[in-house]
This record gives sequence, structure tokens and C-alpha cells, in this order.
Amino acid sequence: MKIEPYSYNADKVCKRCVMDDTVPGIEFDKDGECTFCKIHDDLKKKYPLNSNTSEKLQSLVNKIKKDGEGQEYDCIVGVSGGRDSTYTLYNAVKLGLRPLAVHFDNGWNSEIAVQNIQNACEQLDVDLHTHVANWEEFKDLQRSFLLASVPDAEVPTDWAIFSVLFKEAARNNIKHIVHGHSFRTEGTTPLSWTYMDGKYIKNIQKEFGTKKIKSFPIMNMWQYAYYSFFKQIKQHRILYYIPYDEKEIFDLLENELNWINYGDKHHESKYTSFFQAYILTRKFNIDKRKLHYSAKIRSGQILRKKALEIIKTDPYDGGVKDLEYCLKKLDLTYDEFEDIMNLPIKSFKDYNTYYPIVRSIKKPIKLINRLGIIPDTVYKKFFLFDI
Ligand SMILES: [Zn+2]
Repeated sequence: MKIEPYSYNADKVCKRCVMDDTVPGIEFDKDGECTFCKIHDDLKKKYPLNSNTSEKLQSLVNKIKKDGEGQEYDCIVGVSGGRDSTYTLYNAVKLGLRPLAVHFDNGWNSEIAVQNIQNACEQLDVDLHTHVANWEEFKDLQRSFLLASVPDAEVPTDWAIFSVLFKEAARNNIKHIVHGHSFRTEGTTPLSWTYMDGKYIKNIQKEFGTKKIKSFPIMNMWQYAYYSFFKQIKQHRILYYIPYDEKEIFDLLENELNWINYGDKHHESKYTSFFQAYILTRKFNIDKRKLHYSAKIRSGQILRKKALEIIKTDPYDGGVKDLEYCLKKLDLTYDEFEDIMNLPIKSFKDYNTYYPIVRSIKKPIKLINRLGIIPDTVYKKFFLFDI
């Protein structure tokens, strides 16, 4: 068993952030600034941090409270044990909301992440609902995505989280879901790096899986429409309205919620960390650190020079030990894994998805977007740039 070497290779890098020409479809303007910087500036214009924004946040909070009158909870907050979701839960409570925290456990949680969730819920006196995935089904799905040779291997989990949040909201008659995403620290993921929908997951499983998915939560387009339009469940990203200073947030979470920092983002799951740091960088030439560091450069939290130095180093530090652990858990031999690493690279466009339908109803979706049903970053990613 050996660790494949890491290499950083980009010919053209954005003059302002660290996104580069390894991202399909990226464009640079006359000043050398990239498409993603433009998305950031648009969002910053829409969500400037001023008194107007505080008023908007307050009126959102008032609306959530009003809709939740007489109910046990007025909103749902998805929690992973990571920085942003914990900070979102903290803010929801401090703003006077009564959230139900919902966690999706796919079997790969790190102990620190579990501890972080428990500590936060205890300190903030928030009820926690944990949905535990059927491991055999999920393992088979994960293997299917690896065999499909797409960079979206984390999509079953991301979509399941999304599905569980809506399901729990509907079950508890809650009208609002509060997400932990912040464009100021996470940026906007290129569509070619991550695409997800229920049909895509089912298609990949049908083609490569050995098991029928019975209990794994996969919401389809009609269920999504039912929750959004009939049940009127709305999604919000409250961190867009709140100043974000990473160092201050780390201190606050550590001091007030006994939160433990586990280093780089998304290392709350051993698989996420292995997949992003090892498989994505070696096989797909995708380094998600570029997104996060670019977002942090734009919001003044790190210098571009420092970020460039960091992304030139190998993000994978798990050695043979973590590689062995992940393969064993997925029932893969090293030879099988090597075959997967050498498969020709595919994209979601090679499989059956809702993408062609979504693209064809661009205009009505543009109208729907004004109602605030589709998160801004998702809308921009799909319809303004399609990258
Ligand atoms: Zn840029």
C-alpha cells in the first residue's frame, strides 16, 4: 500500500483569490479576477454588514418566531459538530429562536464531532434529533459513487442531510430551516465539483450498487416541491447577516460551548477528510481548500500569499493508517481502490439527473428565486455561471 504523491498544478491563478484554471469554466476579467470573486461581490452587495442588514435579520427572526407560535420549536438547525453549524446554532439561540438541532450520522463521525454536538446542545439547552443511517445501505452507496468515478462522492450524505432536515421540519410542523453556510468563509462551490439531486443518487446506485436503497433518506424533486410549496418550508442562511471573524468565533465556541477545534474544515468525518484530501486532489485535481481560502482572502481573514503557500502543500496527512482504515470500512482491497483511482473521470452529466429539466425551466426558477426558496449561492451557481 502506498500513498500517491500530491502535486499543485495551475497555470493561471486569480489575481485576488486562489481559484485557478483547474476549475472548468472559470473566467478571468481584464483585471485577472475570477468568476467566483464576482459571485462573492454580488452576495456582499446583497448582504452588506450594516444597520440595514441587522434590521433584515431582526425581521426574519420575528417572522420565524411568529410562525412558530404555539409550537415546541420554531426552526430547525442542521448540526455537524463543525464550526459554522455550531456557530449558527449559537446565534439562533442568542437571537431568541427555539431551534430543534438535527444531525445526520452516516457512520463516519469523528469522536470530536459527536462531542461538539452534545456539548453545544447541552450548553444551549437545545433538543437534538439524530438520524442514524443504515450502515450497509450507506456503505453500498458510497462504493457506488466511487465506482461511478465522479467527484460527487460526498453527495449521498449532503443530500441525505438536506432530506432529513425537510422531513423533520414537516414532521414537527416547523416552517423554517436555518443553514450554517456562509459565503464569507466557504465561497461558492463550482457545479462541476459538486452536483446533487435525488435522481442522480438513485441512478448511480442502480448502475453500480448491489443493494436496494430502502431506508436511506433521498428526497426526490416532487417531495422537495411538496415541502417548499405545499408545506411552505423556507430555508435561511443567517450567517450572511452576521459579521464573521474566524478567530473570534473559535474563541467564543471554545469558551462558551466547550467546542473542540479539529483543524481543517470538514474533518468532522473521517471519510470527508480522506475523500477531500486524498481522492479529490490525486484523482480529480480538485482541492476544496481553494474555495475556503479564497473566501477567507476576500473577507480579509487571511493574506493571499499565505493561502497560496498553504495550498501548495499536501492536504492529506493521514498516511497509510487512514487509507487502510477507510478501505477496510468500505470493504475495498487496495487493488480495487487503485482500479477506482485509475478509472476514467466522469461527471454528473454522464448520468441521469434532474439537471436538464432544471436548466430548461430557467425562467420560472428565476421568478421563484425572488421568493427566497432557493439559496442565493445555489441559484447563482446553476443559472448565472453554470460552472
Ligand atoms: Zn478570484
